[in-house]
Amino acid sequence: MNAAAMGKADETLRRVFGFESWRPGQREIVEAVLSGRDALAILPTGGGKSLCYQLPAVVLDSLVLVVSPLIALMKDQLDALEALGVGAAVLNSSLDPDEYRSAADRVRSGQVRILYAAPEALATGRLPALLAERPPIRIVVDEAHCISQWGHDFRPEYRRIAELRVRFPAASCLAVTATATDRVRDDIAGSLALRDPFVFVSSFDRPALLLRVEPKTDTKRRLIGFARNHARGKTAATGEEIKGSGIVYCLSRKSAEEIAELLSAHGIRALPYHAGLPQEERKANQEAFIRDDVDAIAATVAFGMGIDKPDVRWIVHWDLPKDLEGYYQEIGRAGRDGLPAECLLFYGRGDLIKLRRFLDLDGDDSGDSTEGDSKWAARERLDIMAAYAETEQCRRRFLLSHFGEHYLRPSCDCCDNCLRDPEDLVDLTVPAQKLISCAIRLGNRFGASHATDVLLGSNSEKIERYGHGALSVYGIGSELNRAGWMELSRRLVASGHLETVPPYEVLKATAKGRALFTAGTFRTRPIEGSRGGSSFSPGAPVKSPYRKNPSADRSRAAGTILTVPGDDELFERLRTLRKTIADKTGVPPYVVFPDRTLRELSRRKPRSVEDLEGVFGVGAHKAERYGSAFVREISEWSETGE
Ligand code: ADP
Ligand code: ZN
Repeated sequence: MNAAAMGKADETLRRVFGFESWRPGQREIVEAVLSGRDALAILPTGGGKSLCYQLPAVVLDSLVLVVSPLIALMKDQLDALEALGVGAAVLNSSLDPDEYRSAADRVRSGQVRILYAAPEALATGRLPALLAERPPIRIVVDEAHCISQWGHDFRPEYRRIAELRVRFPAASCLAVTATATDRVRDDIAGSLALRDPFVFVSSFDRPALLLRVEPKTDTKRRLIGFARNHARGKTAATGEEIKGSGIVYCLSRKSAEEIAELLSAHGIRALPYHAGLPQEERKANQEAFIRDDVDAIAATVAFGMGIDKPDVRWIVHWDLPKDLEGYYQEIGRAGRDGLPAECLLFYGRGDLIKLRRFLDLDGDDSGDSTEGDSKWAARERLDIMAAYAETEQCRRRFLLSHFGEHYLRPSCDCCDNCLRDPEDLVDLTVPAQKLISCAIRLGNRFGASHATDVLLGSNSEKIERYGHGALSVYGIGSELNRAGWMELSRRLVASGHLETVPPYEVLKATAKGRALFTAGTFRTRPIEGSRGGSSFSPGAPVKSPYRKNPSADRSRAAGTILTVPGDDELFERLRTLRKTIADKTGVPPYVVFPDRTLRELSRRKPRSVEDLEGVFGVGAHKAERYGSAFVREISEWSETGE
């Protein structure tokens, strides 16, 4: 690769895209692409995959074909490219004949550098002829995991792409995706006949996402408070401002409707989204969300695919997701711009039981099924999801290790468990010893429910039958109620002191559990129903469970900008201006400028269009287009506000 081309790429990043630095992997991938090498890039959602093919298309002035399953949702991509001054077009069946002809003419005349097409359009119709006239120098396969039968989203029409490789042997190929296990990765490389590809697999870590799990009690009140705080602008536990729109994911269509109503009734503009709504309404609701006309969408998992909105600031999971893959994909829709965002999962054991039942019956209300998936595997995935919700360890580490990554830092400082003040943990060593001892006395052959009965000294028929009333642990557990002992048993399982053995989920003491009798302590979050532990009372102010001063590392890691007092009012004005411009030109607000640009503008307060140079997200084209309006707004604010 010659240095001149990379120099040009660096310059294009700043001048055209207005970014001061590359995201991890982008530069390496762009370098491979520019040198004409095949490449496979696995970057997390929000990792900046589009730039990996858009930037080379700007540097090398020729046609790039992007195959994507999400053509129907491409309009925003086009608008974004247009706003950057890059010629792009979509060719699909939804265009009327005139639109199609004019787009095709632009391709022929060389005005289009990036052409998006759906896989099914590749073999038939007008596209093949057009491509024969103007062959692409590069073929980009977006969502490349769809080509693999081993992936979770196989699309048979993706197999068509292989034909392109034969038809355009000189074109290089770039495959991008956010999810691919080793097997899927090999399958992608094989199916696309990649030649000695450059492979880049980035870290799955999203350091700017604050991960939280809360018990599923009093959820309506909690949700309203949470959404309201974010709609108004909320200082996160980590000290950063998080303001903007969010998504509430739920399992059923009915809850999606109810939650949208609940939020609306409490002054948070919200709309539902699920597969049961008429197509038109779905489209309109999605559009309202993207354009910031509403604060929230309450949706089933049907929502989110192909939505590029970079400034989703919060995600709530009203119900337990079915697996960590789905959960990770859904929370990945927040904070794609790299600014802080908050993810809250409501978790109750009831959900787990309900989901297990659903899986046994195969299928649920949201319309997608676990077809082709053995129940056993589905059950195992669900259990991992529940273990995530129950863990007292760093959630980020749990998540990353599930995706095969080692998280080396001792604490992420950005999940509820890492941020919890150690002072807020209670010492439950003695109850833990009692429960472990009880499991041992029961010969490691009974479940948590029976062990609880024994500890509470109840007169169940089963206790009678086995003569367990005579055990030394019988009736020694008055410090917790039934729910408390059950919860403690789950935590001891989560911490590895106990294990549950299928098929009857009997409790078994582990070596670690036995060791607790001689050394060590068991400290944990307060358990509801324990004396001395706090229990949650509706209506009362909840003490923040977070440490007050998480290390400054975190904001550095997330690449965030902390707000300076006094900026907020200007920031608000700039947001309003952005919305006005966006509505006038018919694009989403983030296409005009991302939040981070507005933050920087409200901090730096540039007085002229020239001063805009170097501001995040302001390339030459955007400076020319929007610069003066923003500069004017800033100087008006300065005159009246100071
Ligand atoms: P994905 O990998 O999910 O397709 P996108 O390509 O949509 O992600 O990028 C996510 C967001 O990150 C977009 O708003 C994009 O403009 C922004 N982005 C991409 N590259 C950079 C960069 N080098 N610096 C700052 N922001 C970037
Ligand atoms: Zn953590």
